[in-house]
Amino acid sequence: MKTPEQLKTAVDKRRTFAIISHPDAGKTTITEQMLLFGGVVREAGTVKAKKSGNFAKSDWMEIEKKRGISVTSSVMQFDYQGKRINILDTPGHEDFSEDTYRTLMAVDSAVMVIDGAKGIEPQTKKLFQICKMRGIPIFTFINKFDRDARDPLDLMAELEDVLGIQSYAMNWPIGMGRGLKGIYDRFHHRVALAHPEDGEDPYIPLDEDGEIPADNPLHEDSIWQDTLDEIELISEAGNTFDEDKIATGDLTPVFFGSALTNFGVQTFLETYLNYAPKPSAHKTEDEQTVEPLSPEFSGFVFKIQANMNPNHRDRIAFVRICSGEFDRGMDVTLQRTGKSLRLSNSTQFMADTRETVETAVAGDIIGLYDTGNFQIGDSIYTGKQDIKFEKLPQFTPELFVRVNAKNVMKQKSFHKGIDQLVQEGAVQLYTSYSTGDYILGAVGQLQFEVFQFRMQNEYNSEVVMETMGHKVARWINPDQLDEHMSSSRNILVKDRQGAPLFLFENQFAENWFKSKYPDVELMSKL
Ligand code: GDP
Repeated sequence: MKTPEQLKTAVDKRRTFAIISHPDAGKTTITEQMLLFGGVVREAGTVKAKKSGNFAKSDWMEIEKKRGISVTSSVMQFDYQGKRINILDTPGHEDFSEDTYRTLMAVDSAVMVIDGAKGIEPQTKKLFQICKMRGIPIFTFINKFDRDARDPLDLMAELEDVLGIQSYAMNWPIGMGRGLKGIYDRFHHRVALAHPEDGEDPYIPLDEDGEIPADNPLHEDSIWQDTLDEIELISEAGNTFDEDKIATGDLTPVFFGSALTNFGVQTFLETYLNYAPKPSAHKTEDEQTVEPLSPEFSGFVFKIQANMNPNHRDRIAFVRICSGEFDRGMDVTLQRTGKSLRLSNSTQFMADTRETVETAVAGDIIGLYDTGNFQIGDSIYTGKQDIKFEKLPQFTPELFVRVNAKNVMKQKSFHKGIDQLVQEGAVQLYTSYSTGDYILGAVGQLQFEVFQFRMQNEYNSEVVMETMGHKVARWINPDQLDEHMSSSRNILVKDRQGAPLFLFENQFAENWFKSKYPDVELMSKL
């Protein structure tokens, strides 16, 4: 066990963040570069290769390969400049936003990668909103400036207009595409050259007026004057640097660069680490806060994933540690059941390996091998005080399919598969009152496809899905339930906990129901 001082030292150096973007903006590339700085991956390209190569974490990532999207979140840890960094990768595709939202509950800040040629894309917008809702700091990296990109001033304006967040340019590109000379680093008061000559120091300090030395070739380049004009403009018209606003997520520091050519990434990481928050306190359902330096251990499960390694039918519960210290073999209380559990089989995630973790502290993410004890959102703790962390965000499914095993003789694997995938939160499961049919609900179509693929690949269960399309899901109080309320325009089902809800054909059907049963309250969530 650590002394309080040792715990403080360990917790204070943790930086836990999610890296988020619209697919293809360069999230994987920038993650790889950061891991390289941390000395974790020796060759750029390894993360991607691991994703799609023979080490593929599970077969169903085939889907990811085919579509070129990332459908799973993973965790990577490395040390850099005295900090212990935990990066949580998130799926970029919008159909997986449920998973991403839950991941955002487990971090203290977020890094947003934007494609400089595309600007704000739909997924970027949604993710930003969630970060804002949580009030966590957001750092923005505008990528791909080695190619022709949009006007940086436009990009900054778009950030503010579309996302409703203030922005502060930490640096500014000097040209772009083939003409990219470097970046003007307002923060370090220097220019970083994009293509230094052999042996030339890429960093050139600026004088008091922000000018580059007159003997530098850039001094006479017209692009330099343009850059100075733009810097003047953003200094006068733009926001001021405000550490407090960064901490509350009201202002995002913006960096320009190119992940592919590894330009601007290191400066970004170093500046980011200066301002990124250390592990913060977490709220409980009864409005208490749990401080990271509390001597008792506590944490919550934000993700469950089965079959990460197809050779071992394992299931891992990802836990964000909120306070204290984790020691392998410790006993904790599982809040939901009140039962005591021994945490002896734990793992931590490096970029390319998984290692048994002996100890970890607040801020860290650990994986617990799970035999069915955990559910998403579960709180675990040591000590006498009952701790139940705030609920993870829940989403009302909008798309539904009826699902059956193709081969009726294979019910066992069908049920096992559904059971596991539903516990993971991959899809929602409902059962029809009248027919007992299984109905799956999702936020996006891709969730069904992943479900079908994984059922086949991981549980050897071929499923037949019958599309039911969009429905409006509304829960009702069980005391008000009368099965006669079900009509041709709705389907009465129960959720996994047995709570009744109606799936209405459309808004019209819901309104019709409301007028017929004005006393029955319809709820979009429980
Ligand atoms: P993700 O989907 O956000 O993880 O994006 P990736 O990192 O996989 O990148 C998507 C594509 O953009 C890949 O082909 C990358 O090589 C490319 N890419 C990433 N960063 C840059 C960059 O800075 N410049 C250029 N030109 N291409 C980039």
